Amino acid sequence: MDAKSQLDNHAVKPSIVAFCREQGADLVGFAPVKRWEEAGEVPREFWPQSLWAPAQTVIVIGMQMPLPIVETTPSILHEELYNTCNRELDSLAFNLVRFLNRQGYASYYFTRDGYGSLKILKKRMYAAFGHVAAARYAGLGNIGLSHNLLTPEFGPRVRLISVFTSLILEPDPMIAKALCIQCGACAKCCPKNALIPREDQLLADYDKLACADMAAELTRRRCYPCGICTKVCPIGKDRSLYRQKGYAQKYLQEEQALAANPDDPDYQSWTHVRKYGSWQKDEKEGEKR
Ligand code: SF4
Ligand code: SF4
Repeated sequence: MDAKSQLDNHAVKPSIVAFCREQGADLVGFAPVKRWEEAGEVPREFWPQSLWAPAQTVIVIGMQMPLPIVETTPSILHEELYNTCNRELDSLAFNLVRFLNRQGYASYYFTRDGYGSLKILKKRMYAAFGHVAAARYAGLGNIGLSHNLLTPEFGPRVRLISVFTSLILEPDPMIAKALCIQCGACAKCCPKNALIPREDQLLADYDKLACADMAAELTRRRCYPCGICTKVCPIGKDRSLYRQKGYAQKYLQEEQALAANPDDPDYQSWTHVRKYGSWQKDEKEGEKR
C-alpha cells in the first residue's frame, strides 16, 4: 500500500466507527486477519482470509443486551430482545458493507448466527465463522470460564457481528488481562450443569450438547435462548448503571427459592414476565410457530 492510501485509510477508520455508532453499535473493534494466523487457535478454514481471500481487516460490532431484560430469562421478553438485537446487527453489517462498497472498499459480512436449526447445530457444533474469537482479536474483550466473550462494558451481555474488508485499517489492541474473575456463578447457576470448572485452566469443560438440549427445550416453549450464564456474570459496567444490591446471592438462590415457593416475592418481577407469552415447564409441549 502506498503512502497516500495509508493516509486515506487513517481517515476511513473514524468514519466507519461513526457510521456504526449512528446505526446503533455499542462496540466497534478492528482486527487484522493476521491475528488468526498468529494465534493459531482457530482452524485455517475458519479464518476470514480463507472464507474471503481479499479480507485484510475484520470489523467486529457489538450490541448490548440490557441487563433487566436478560434477568427475566427464560421469557418471551428475553427471546424478543435476542431477536431484535440479531436483526439490528444483521442490518447494520449489511448497511456497513454497502457503505464501504460505495466508497470502493470491497467488503463482506458474516451473519451473526450461521446455523439454520438446533438440529443442524447439534450435528455440527460450529458455525462457519466464529464472532467470539473475532471480537477478542478486535480488542472488544476476552473469553471467560463460561466460554462467552466478556467485555468491560457489558460483560457477556452483548451480541456480535463481523464485517470483513479488503481495507488495511489500524488494529485495536487486544485486552491482555483476563476479565473473568473465576467466581464460578455461571457454572453454579447453569440448569444443565454444562459448565464444569477446571483447576488447570480458565475455561470450563463445556458440554455443548447439554446446552443445546436446553436451547431445544426453550425453543419449544417459546422462550429461547437460555442465557443464564450471561445473566449471572458479575463483569460489566452495565451493573453500575443498573445498580443492584445482593444480586449474586439472589441469582445463586433463585432455583432453590422458586422450588420452595414459586411465588417468592423476591423474584416476582421475573416470574410474572415468565408466566405470560411462553409455555411453562410443566405445560404440554408447545406448538411450533
Ligand atoms: S446457555 Fe444455559 S444451558 Fe447453556 S451453558 Fe449457559 S447457563 Fe448453561
Ligand atoms: S460468571 Fe464468574 S466465572 Fe463465569 S464467566 Fe463470569 S466472571 Fe467468569
